[in-house]
Amino acid sequence: MDSFFIYSDESSHFEYSPDHPFRPERALNLKNLLEQYDLINKSWIKVVPPEPIPEEILLLFHTKNYLKVLKSASKGEITEETLRAGLGTSDNPIFKDMFNKSNLASGGTLVGTRLVLEASDRAFAFNPTGGFHHAYPDHAEGFCYINDIAVVGKMLRRDGLRFAYIDIDAHHGNGVEAAFEEDNGALVISMHQTGKTIYPWGGFEDNIGKGVGEGYNINIPLPPQTDDELFLKAFFEIVTPAVEAFAPDIVLAEMGTDTMANDPLTNMALTNNSFEMMALEIGKFSKKLVGMGGGGYNIDNASRSWAVAWAAINGIKMENPYAGILGGVMVGPEIEGGTLLDNPIYITGPTKEKNEKEVDRVIKYIHDVGFPKIGAVG
Ligand SMILES: [Zn+2]
Repeated sequence: MDSFFIYSDESSHFEYSPDHPFRPERALNLKNLLEQYDLINKSWIKVVPPEPIPEEILLLFHTKNYLKVLKSASKGEITEETLRAGLGTSDNPIFKDMFNKSNLASGGTLVGTRLVLEASDRAFAFNPTGGFHHAYPDHAEGFCYINDIAVVGKMLRRDGLRFAYIDIDAHHGNGVEAAFEEDNGALVISMHQTGKTIYPWGGFEDNIGKGVGEGYNINIPLPPQTDDELFLKAFFEIVTPAVEAFAPDIVLAEMGTDTMANDPLTNMALTNNSFEMMALEIGKFSKKLVGMGGGGYNIDNASRSWAVAWAAINGIKMENPYAGILGGVMVGPEIEGGTLLDNPIYITGPTKEKNEKEVDRVIKYIHDVGFPKIGAVG
C-alpha cells in the first residue's frame, strides 16, 4: 500500500474571518497528532504538498464567470456580481487572497487523486483541507468556494473512470449531488443530519438521481441525536453493499467530523468510535481512496477523529496511546486518559426508539427503491 498525507504549512495557514467556525489550522493540529502518535513516519507513507488546481481543470465544473468574480473579489474588487456569486456573506466572507488560498486547499484533493491513480497497488491519500461539497458551478455557499470533489469527479469522468463518493459529513453534499445526479458513472452517497433541521435543507431519500443517473444518487437523512449505533447501521446496510455492487475505479470520501456529539453547528450524537469503524470499512472496500477533511467545528475533535481514521485506514495500531502525556501534563487535544478515542455515547429512551424507527424506514426505502436500479442487494 502507498499512502499520501497531503499537507503544507501554507495550505493550513489562513482564515476566512477571525470568528469564522471553519478553521484550516485543523490540518496542522492533525499533522502534529500524527507525529506525536507515530502514525506518519512509515515506509509506505509520504507527506506531499498540495498544488493549485489549473484553470482548465477548475472549468470542468466551475463557470468561467464565477472564477473571474472569485479572483476579482480576492483583490478587493467588489461588484453586484460578487454578492450574486454568494461572496461577501457571513458564511462565505471575502478575505485576502481568497482565490489562491481556496484553490490550494482544494488542490490537495487533485494531487492526492493523481498519486492514488498512479500507484501500482492499493493507495490512499488524505487531504485534510479539502471536502468543499457545498460549492456550485457559479456560486459559493456553506463555507465552500471551490468544490474540489466536483472538480476532481468531473476530471475522473472525463478520463473515463467511474467513481463512488461517500459523504459522512453532517451536512448534505448538495453541490456534489447536483454535479452528478444525471450520471450513472458516479455513485454519490450522502449521509447527513436531515435537511428538515439543518442547512442545506435538502438531501431527502427520494432524491435518487435523474435519467440514467436514477439510483446512483443515494441520500441517507438521519434524525438529530443519531448515535454511533444507528449511524453505523445505516452505513453498513447501505454504503457497503452499494459501493460493492458499483465496483468503482476509485472512491472519494468526504470525512467531515461535524457529526460528533460536541460539534457546535449540528445536532448529531456520534463519537469517533464509529468514525474509526467507517474509516476501516471504507479502507477495506476501496482499492484507491482519496479522503478529504470537510466539516468539523470542534477543532480538537476534528483532528483527533481524522487521526483515528488515518491510523485505521493505514492499518496502524496506536502503540503508545499515552504519547500525548508528558510528565502527567496533557500536551495535545486528547481527552482524559491520553487516548484519541472518545468515550462512547449511547442514546436511550424515547429519542432512540423514535430515531431507530426513522433510520429503519430510510434504509428500507433505499433498499426498495434505489438498490434494484444499481444491482445492489440490501
Ligand atoms: Zn458539514
